[in-house]
Amino acid sequence: MKKKIAIIGAGIAGLTLANLIKKNSDYDFMLYEKQESLSLDEGYGIQLSTNSIKILNTIGFDKIDNNKIFHPIGVDFYNIQNKKICELDLTQFNTIENKHTTLQRSTLIEFLKDNVYTQHLRFGKKIKEVSELKGKVLIKFDDNTNDLVDIVVGADGIFSNTRSFFEKKKNEPKFKKAIALRTILKTKSELKIDEQRISIMMGKNCHIVIYPLNQNKELNLVCIIRDNKYDPDNIKSLVSRVVAQNSDLEKIFEGELKSWPLYFTTKIHPSTNSKVFYIGDAFNGFLPTLAQGAGQSIESAYELFNLIKEDKEDIQKAYYQERLRRAKIVRRRSNFNFFVFHFSSTIMQVIRNFFMKFLIKKKSFIGSYLGTVYKR
Ligand SMILES: Cc1cc2nc3c(=O)[nH]c(=O)nc-3n(C[C@H](O)[C@H](O)[C@H](O)COP(=O)(O)OP(=O)(O)OC[C@H]3O[C@@H](n4cnc5c(N)ncnc54)[C@H](O)[C@@H]3O)c2cc1C
Repeated sequence: MKKKIAIIGAGIAGLTLANLIKKNSDYDFMLYEKQESLSLDEGYGIQLSTNSIKILNTIGFDKIDNNKIFHPIGVDFYNIQNKKICELDLTQFNTIENKHTTLQRSTLIEFLKDNVYTQHLRFGKKIKEVSELKGKVLIKFDDNTNDLVDIVVGADGIFSNTRSFFEKKKNEPKFKKAIALRTILKTKSELKIDEQRISIMMGKNCHIVIYPLNQNKELNLVCIIRDNKYDPDNIKSLVSRVVAQNSDLEKIFEGELKSWPLYFTTKIHPSTNSKVFYIGDAFNGFLPTLAQGAGQSIESAYELFNLIKEDKEDIQKAYYQERLRRAKIVRRRSNFNFFVFHFSSTIMQVIRNFFMKFLIKKKSFIGSYLGTVYKR
């Protein structure tokens, strides 16, 4: 009998898993999404490093319209006064087929939805109840439909509701006391930056990331600012704290700004049910300071898919061990970047800049700090 898989949540993780199953196996599967549609209007950008591009290429990402994506060849680091500190060559991690890529999240979701949209995606579905029946899991949804499946995959993001049905231990994400602001710059930013590359400007309790999104010269801007409380009505005062450090930055915040509080997962717990798995942010939510959230969502889907396909014994243990190992590597680096990008003391900034200039040229250091994440 064919195994049946229910994937809960149609974000990057759930859609990637669905594509892998559709393309490379004959398992029966269904994606259940709580929203009434996929949010394609979210214009914000994501970076995909080579570790995730390599996986996406196995499901046809290499055929995507090149006008909709960009391949930045480096990262330039600046202080908040727009003075360059050093640069990182990203091409050292690229191969001919797999290149560091930036794009709009909606472009990636459009690509991922194409193969699964009509047959394998159901909207407006929220789990109401779960139970075990004849060695399978019976899922009842709140619209009174149900599904009997062999495997349940929670891909419903950092606040995973799936967890609450299968796990006794709560794993509440924690507010990082930082807020992310996003906008798209449609015209030249007027900063002294190379707009073909990724620019990171580090200031007191904040940093700004700017990168091209496509071949239309649209730039994605993210600004992370430390603050104890998230108040969507207080965005102006957050911006003013950044602009106070460099008045030339005022212009880049003139467009429509969206804001998010930053959350992260504190502890990584395995699933306590052998038929239930978590992927993407539902497994572990990272800080965005290594730009690996989407990448790890794609990786976790790939790891789980391979284990299911091989049909090995104790998939749960194998999945958790490998995912935990990878998540720890990424988490350490994301947390460390968050710490060093935001120094408020001038002395600490000077020391940081000195070490960055030195270490960024050291192949062995870059190989172990970034290569371990990007080359897989
Ligand atoms: C400011 C910021 C910048 C970022 N920048 C980058 C970057 O540059 N590069 C990068 O790789 N990552 C980045 N990320 C992270 C990345 O966006 C996420 O890690 C990634 O989208 C997680 O994917 P996911 O599929 O696990 O979860 P989500 O994208 O959260 O998707 C979960 C899906 O499940 C659905 N859902 C939720 N609850 C239920 C339910 N009960 N039942 C059914 N469905 C449900 C949701 O509607 C949604 O469709 C960034 C994140 C932030 C906050």
